Amino acid sequence: MDRTKIKDLLTTTPAHQSVTVMGWVRTFRNTQFIALNDGSTLQNLQCVVALNSVDEQIIKRITTGAAIKLTGNLIASLGKGQAVELVVNQIEILGDSDATAYPLQPKKHSLEFLREIAHLRFRTNTFAAVFKVRHALAFAIHQFFNERGFVYLHTPVITGSDAEGAGEMFRVSTLPFDNTPRTDDGKVNFKEDFFGKETNLTVSGQLEAELGAMALSEVYTFGPTFRAENSNTTRHLAEFWMIEPEVAFADLNDNMDLAEALLKYAINYALTHCVEEIEFLKNRLIEEEKQKPQDERSEMDLIQKLQFCLDHSFERITYTEAIDILRNSNHNKKKKFKYLIDAWGADLQSEHERYLVEKHFKKPVILTDYPKQIKAFYMRQNDDGKTVRAMDILFPGIGEIVGGSQREERLQLLQQRMDEMHIPAQELYWYLDTRRFGTCPHAGFGLGFERLVLFITGMTNIRDVIPFPRTPHNAEF
Ligand code: ATP
Ligand code: MN
Repeated sequence: MDRTKIKDLLTTTPAHQSVTVMGWVRTFRNTQFIALNDGSTLQNLQCVVALNSVDEQIIKRITTGAAIKLTGNLIASLGKGQAVELVVNQIEILGDSDATAYPLQPKKHSLEFLREIAHLRFRTNTFAAVFKVRHALAFAIHQFFNERGFVYLHTPVITGSDAEGAGEMFRVSTLPFDNTPRTDDGKVNFKEDFFGKETNLTVSGQLEAELGAMALSEVYTFGPTFRAENSNTTRHLAEFWMIEPEVAFADLNDNMDLAEALLKYAINYALTHCVEEIEFLKNRLIEEEKQKPQDERSEMDLIQKLQFCLDHSFERITYTEAIDILRNSNHNKKKKFKYLIDAWGADLQSEHERYLVEKHFKKPVILTDYPKQIKAFYMRQNDDGKTVRAMDILFPGIGEIVGGSQREERLQLLQQRMDEMHIPAQELYWYLDTRRFGTCPHAGFGLGFERLVLFITGMTNIRDVIPFPRTPHNAEF
């Protein structure tokens, strides 16, 4: 179908040329001015219908949400705020929209309400901006790795191992719920299941990515991951996308450098390629914060916040140093934490992570060398016998955005740790093989894509940065 996109028209020199546009009506004022949007830009095209020039039956059908086709002449706009407008001489209704039933009205709707009509929320500027930034970030991430010679490895969505340990898993099965086949001792007989064994949706592609790294040396996965954890927070989804690079011949410092470079690359990409969207989201945030008391508003606007991240190196400290800071903080002494920090070894809650980032350092922080008790079996053990070469990157307003480590490449130490943590070695024979045949130092991390999108768009709920959020008791659309 022959049409010109509104984005292109807005930068065209108007000379009464005839053009055809197609889009959805945002508003129709005074039976004369149509604000038309086709998704190519957040801006609407102002289209002017000459009074009495169009059949009244057609005029009635120009309602908010209707899809229409307009042909007219492009002229310099007399109104302010736009360079061009369209003087309409032909209108075709492509799809009606009953104004009395259409849930999106030309007014401000709450994000909560829009979540309930997530199938229509793409039609608002906020969500158009968010999902365009999301797209740009996905592209930027592939570009980042491609420029550096990484191989994009598609790790499986259905996995046969339940030993990854990153979280609760969703079972994949075609067995009937009633008359489930049982073994002699009464257990479910997975031999009769589709794959002839227990299978789950993946919680992480890391273990498989490590197999790739042990030959290609630099790989990454970028795909959906699933966690059946019942955490109803603004930062957790049951289905989320994760970026997981894995690099051979790399230690924890290389790993931190890579993660910091990736995050900065993504932020910079959005700032330079999504100018219209980021500007819109910045203003949206300023409006939203006006409802808060003065002292709770951010000192920086969204663009300043993103720029600040680019201009400063991330603070790198050990878990032990972080515990000291937290333990001695006024916040801890005045019992303002829900979970008080008293002993070394405690897992950090998001309130502690955010204190370090937002109050103490006031910039992104990388915490390293966590107690081995609170970390996964595959992390490289330090000589102190207590800590592992782990790293978490903490971001303002988000908390943990990246979790990673140098991997334990020494077979004996890895097996010993697996024994201690009751991880069945025979199930992971393929993983252990990498340590048997040509093992080498290597490292990697997982970056939660939605948490990155949250940070860069300035949105506050993770449900608003993925098109169709899946959370406990919610899998609509
Ligand atoms: P958290 O402590 O925040 O629950 P985690 O330690 O369980 O996260 P990892 O297993 O280290 O997370 O996963 C790597 C990254 O994936 C995290 O740093 C985070 O950015 C992201 N992530 C983890 N769980 C979720 C989730 N349920 N929803 C969205 N992103 C997640
Ligand atoms: Mn983590």
